[in-house]
This record gives sequence, C-alpha cells and structure tokens, in this order.
Amino acid sequence: MKPKVAFFDFTSCEGCQLEVLNFEQEVLQLLNLLEIVNFRELMTERSDDYDIAIIDGAISTDADVARIKEIRERASILITIGACSSLGGVNCLKNAYPMEEVLSVVYGDAAGYYNTIPARPVSAVVPVDYALPQCPVNKAEFLEVVKALLLGKKPEIPNYPVCAECKMAENACVFDLGRTCLGPVTRAGCNALCVTWGRHCWGCRGLVDDPNVDAATDVLKEHGLTAEDIVNKFRIYTAWTGGSE
Ligand code: SF4
Ligand code: SF4
Ligand code: SF4
Repeated sequence: MKPKVAFFDFTSCEGCQLEVLNFEQEVLQLLNLLEIVNFRELMTERSDDYDIAIIDGAISTDADVARIKEIRERASILITIGACSSLGGVNCLKNAYPMEEVLSVVYGDAAGYYNTIPARPVSAVVPVDYALPQCPVNKAEFLEVVKALLLGKKPEIPNYPVCAECKMAENACVFDLGRTCLGPVTRAGCNALCVTWGRHCWGCRGLVDDPNVDAATDVLKEHGLTAEDIVNKFRIYTAWTGGSE
C-alpha cells in the first residue's frame, strides 16, 4: 500500500505548491512511491482519507483554524512547506494593525462580509511534525524529507545559521561589501541561495533555535541600520511572536 498524501493551501500566494509542481520529474518518481489524493492545483479528485498532510499557507481566519484542526485529526504526519505555513511569513505583517483596519483597507465597504484574525503559523494551532520554511519551499529539502519518511527515517532540519553554508559556498560576506544580512541568525538549509546569487539573506527560513538576536542587532546597527530598520528587517518573515494555542 502506498502512503496517501494530501496537499492543502491556506493563506498564501500558493507559490510553494507551484514549486512542488515544478519538480516535474521528481514528482513523477514520487508517484511510484506514494499516492496523491488531494492537490487542488494538480487534480480535481478529493479525498479525506490520507496519511500525510502537506500544508502551504498561514492560518488567518476562524475557518482556517477549524479546517487545520480537522486535517490534523485525519493525518498521521503533518508537514508545513514554505515560510507562510511554517513561520506565518509575510502574512503576519498585518498583525501590527487592528484587524478591523486591515479588513477595511483590503475590502472597503465589503469588509463586514469577511473574517480575519492575526495571521499565524500552523504550529500555533496544531502540532506540526516537520516544518520546512523557505520562500518558496526548498525543492531538495522537500524531496529529502519525503524520501526519509518513506524509508521510515527521521528527517533532519538544519539548526545552524545560513552563514555556515555561505562560508562553504565561498561567498564574499555582504557586510564586507557595505550591505546587511540576516544570515547570522537565520536557519540554514538553502545553501545560502540569495547570497550566492548576489543578494543577501532576508531570513525566509526563520530564526535558528536560540538565535543571538542582540549580537545580530548590534552588528546591523554598526552597519548603519536604525532600530526601526532592524525591526522592519526581522518582521518580513518572523513577525509572528505568539506561542501556540
Ligand atoms: S512561502 Fe513564499 S512562495 Fe510559499 S506560499 Fe508563502 S509567500 Fe508564497
Ligand atoms: S553574507 Fe550573510 S550569510 Fe553570508 S557570511 Fe555574510 S552574514 Fe553570513
Ligand atoms: S539566503 Fe536567506 S532569504 Fe535566501 S533562501 Fe536562504 S534563508 Fe531564505
């Protein structure tokens, strides 16, 4: 019997599901090993019978809360893919404002027809077995985790900073080039993708466990950022500061 896998989307741009579809050859290979029973962007069939639930998107409505709880009850394993479902991601930027104001700005006179709550990661509502943050989800990491689960192994998610991978990639540090970067406190696993391609780390994989935010803040200040700049830099992907229900 192949394990049954269901993909679900919540509040997001759905870029992570598109990224999974972009795997093409790898998805076809995976289909030999598992059965996809739910994937809105891929198929019209639906099933409530699945072993593994893969979640894209943040929780941002009362209906989302009820739906993710139902999914959690049905799934033996629940994996979040991408920054939105794993961290709350950019959706949490709205949390700095009153929800009535957010609804009014987005929906105008129709605001009364909609519900919204402060956006949060899936782990704030139900237990998550494996969180794969990144914007969008990292193809290699996703495939490694799925393969490990199929082999009955526990997937390893890195808990060291992007700087370690950046050094391995022999990149010049952007601080030495007069720019700033969140690599010292951001969870590795992307092979310092953005620095390697000429940019800096925005923090889309979230913070490592026990990040030295004070030291990172001091370094950012030394490189010209104001306190407000620093707060805004961290807020892009890690604005969610609440715990779990
Ligand atoms: S993590 Fe990024 S790519 Fe994925 S759904 Fe969220 S915003 Fe889109
Ligand atoms: S560029 Fe960023 S990730 Fe790379 S070493 Fe410097 S601070 Fe770390
Ligand atoms: S370098 Fe930073 S922003 Fe870029 S993919 Fe890696 S964690 Fe995300």
